[in-house]
Amino acid sequence: MNLQFLGGAGEVGRSAILVNDSLLLDYGMLTGNPPQFPVGSVDPDAVVVSHGHLDHVGTVPALLSGSEWPAVHWTPPTYELALTLARDTLKLHGGTYDCPFTETHIRRMTQQSEPHDYGETFEAAGHEVTFYNAGHIPGSAHVLVDDGETRLLYTADFHTDDQRLVSGTTGRPNADVVICESTYSDVEHEDRSTVEERFVESVRTTIWQGGTVVVPAFAIGRTQELLMVLDAHDIDCYVDGMGTRVLEMLRNHPEYVRDPTALKRAKSNARIVSGRDGQRRRIARQNTVIVTTSGMLSGGPAMTYIPEIRRDPTNKICLTGYQVEGTPGRELVERGRCELNGGVVPVAARAEMYDFSAHADKHGLRSFLAAYRETPVFVNHGDRCAAFAEELRADGYEATAPEVGAVVEV
Ligand SMILES: [Zn+2]
Repeated sequence: MNLQFLGGAGEVGRSAILVNDSLLLDYGMLTGNPPQFPVGSVDPDAVVVSHGHLDHVGTVPALLSGSEWPAVHWTPPTYELALTLARDTLKLHGGTYDCPFTETHIRRMTQQSEPHDYGETFEAAGHEVTFYNAGHIPGSAHVLVDDGETRLLYTADFHTDDQRLVSGTTGRPNADVVICESTYSDVEHEDRSTVEERFVESVRTTIWQGGTVVVPAFAIGRTQELLMVLDAHDIDCYVDGMGTRVLEMLRNHPEYVRDPTALKRAKSNARIVSGRDGQRRRIARQNTVIVTTSGMLSGGPAMTYIPEIRRDPTNKICLTGYQVEGTPGRELVERGRCELNGGVVPVAARAEMYDFSAHADKHGLRSFLAAYRETPVFVNHGDRCAAFAEELRADGYEATAPEVGAVVEV
């Protein structure tokens, strides 16, 4: 089996691996200014997508130009998330370098879509492929690829612990080689119930003091998880941004959610903001909680709420995920100020961080890999892939960390 690492190796973003020159696993985008896309030019016979996050699916529509279009295989929720993300990218950046596709490409994505459930083996570019629940977001999959000689397990993003929205991964299919993500290979997550307790306590305190809490959250997975947390603790809230569309979409895929009844209850507990800034300003003056995109304050309705609440120290901003260097969210946590509409302004409202991660931490990664002690491991999708590979080698694994552009024969 021949593997080409076209992106997401030694980095987080633009994940793309070409198998035997014909089968592409993921085709993501590295968001940034400017964004980066997988290297080289590819013309695959089929594409298999692990899950609906921009760094795994963001560039897929660009594969559908020319006259021969590859089939695109994914789970039903991943297909819908891919469509939502593609339309959003087109709306924000259409016609610029930041968006390497058009409306036509997005339509073809629908024509070429071949959805599959977990555990159902299908054929793609002459390979047998099977999805296993990866416990990261709804529809996320480990991808097992069998070319008749070698079985490759591409873990993609996964979580070993249960979240409210999805259960942790349990499938450990037999494989001859593993490509393993390593996002949090040196991090130890605080226990999820402890994070929840701290978060809920903090939100309650601010509400009790008469303040407003803005909770910036990623649209896919995190927004729904937080609505479930708030509902479980009887805290009313508003929800705004792309996460509301994802919430709506998940209603059609209850089998990809851990507890569909709890999600339904969380949805009815949250008041959906339909989107005029006048309405948002009124809500921002209320004694309430607002869950909204974007998760790192780099756009979205959060940018209407923050200016409204920033001056009053009674108010609070609860960030709920990792804040990438250079984002307004990171600036807020580290320096108590925020870039708004081109200018930097001080923020008197308190900013706090809560780690609601959807990735395995270092213990989770090691417990997953314990099933693959005798199997060569390629470490990807992380900022310290080489270091993690070295730690694995020290523990007896045959592990390496390929770089972007690397070609390996296994
Ligand atoms: Zn992901």
